[in-house]
Amino acid sequence: MILQGRCALITGADSGIGQATAEVFAREGADVAITYNTDAEGARETARRVEAAGRRCLVIRNDVSDPASVEATFAQVAADLGVLDILVNNAGQAMNGMPVAEMDDDTLERILRVNLMAPVYCARAFIKVRRANGGGGKILLVSSVAQHLPTPESAPYGMSKAGVGSLCRSLSRELAEDRINVNIVAPGLIQTPMTSDRFENPEKLAQSLERIPWHRAGQPDEIAKAILYLCSEAADYVTGHTLVVDGGLTMQWGGA
Ligand code: NAD
Repeated sequence: MILQGRCALITGADSGIGQATAEVFAREGADVAITYNTDAEGARETARRVEAAGRRCLVIRNDVSDPASVEATFAQVAADLGVLDILVNNAGQAMNGMPVAEMDDDTLERILRVNLMAPVYCARAFIKVRRANGGGGKILLVSSVAQHLPTPESAPYGMSKAGVGSLCRSLSRELAEDRINVNIVAPGLIQTPMTSDRFENPEKLAQSLERIPWHRAGQPDEIAKAILYLCSEAADYVTGHTLVVDGGLTMQWGGA
């Protein structure tokens, strides 16, 4: 098993990519702490799947955009699960079409706090844990193809994910001496609650699929497997890297 004996924290694991990652990690031998914000039933389902794979699951309600809540999360993991080896910063929020000219302050701040500042809050707490335990470990940031592409009418989303790209490069250099790998998985269109609007609108979905060379959406477990690779020993010499998992979407953008 690829993660036998490891301990991982996965944020936003009550649904979608985070839930699939918790399940894949557990099947590969890791105990996992998962966080959720509002969907307690989704978090319980994730815990059921982890426990069915024979691993421990610690479920924590938090708000990743609140630094005090993130600190409390790490304290609870240390007390109730153990020493973390892996951090998966997955929690994120999308936004509905809103041109910059009409942008309200709350939306701008919420998207940047959840998608960009929260990974900093989590990373700094994780770094302290790893330094106190001899170094090593993995930080995985979930960004998006929006890290590389323009996002008209969702500018803060693209800004936040591009910022995560910069955070990854800076952190990978800062943490090289600690032997903490820092990498990104950048998903394309994945079928999760975040994209349910598109899947409920056949016309919109057809337009999206037309632009993807694979002509299908990805499934959460396809992202989870990429996350697993970057959090495994097989990727010990990979750091500062963005692995795009998008059925070719970024190559197709802007041209046939
Ligand atoms: P999802 O809606 O299933 O998951 C988002 C998770 O974020 C939820 O579990 C939610 O609890 C958590 N979250 C949101 N705000 C939070 C807060 N303030 N505090 C704590 N947790 C909070 O959607 P998903 O598609 O699985 O998204 C996971 C990640 O993948 C996100 O970072 C998203 O930006 C990214 N992503 C998704 C897609 C896609 O097509 N689905 C594409 C690119 C990137």
